[in-house]
Amino acid sequence: MPSYDYRCKNCGRPTTFSYKTYKDYDAASRVCPHCGSADLTRIINRIAIARPSRDYSGMSPQEMLSVFEGGKSEEMGAMFQQVADTVPGGADPQIKEVTERLLKGDKPEKIESDLQASASAATPAASPPTSTSGSE
Ligand SMILES: [Zn+2]
Repeated sequence: MPSYDYRCKNCGRPTTFSYKTYKDYDAASRVCPHCGSADLTRIINRIAIARPSRDYSGMSPQEMLSVFEGGKSEEMGAMFQQVADTVPGGADPQIKEVTERLLKGDKPEKIESDLQASASAATPAASPPTSTSGSE
């Protein structure tokens, strides 16, 4: 049986609506049982994703900065991964590499110096083949 979580924009309370079929769901009109308002918004549940205890994608820049300053590789990796998940079409390959290394426990300073070393060694003059500068 499909069920859907909604939150009332009027009183702010969550409600779960259950339907026998998807057709019923389509046809139904949803009204808040607490206050009678029809101004409900769907709550999207992200399922089957093992997520860390903190929701990094909802963090403010200051909070993110404090994670960086905390210097815990796993925390930073988890944050990178969550933020990368929100990027349409996937994150930059370099970001992915950094994320994977952070999750393995590599020190951020080590990763940063490695990236700088490979960047200055690999492309002294030639422009990278995958240049996507400009607009579409
Ligand atoms: Zn309500």
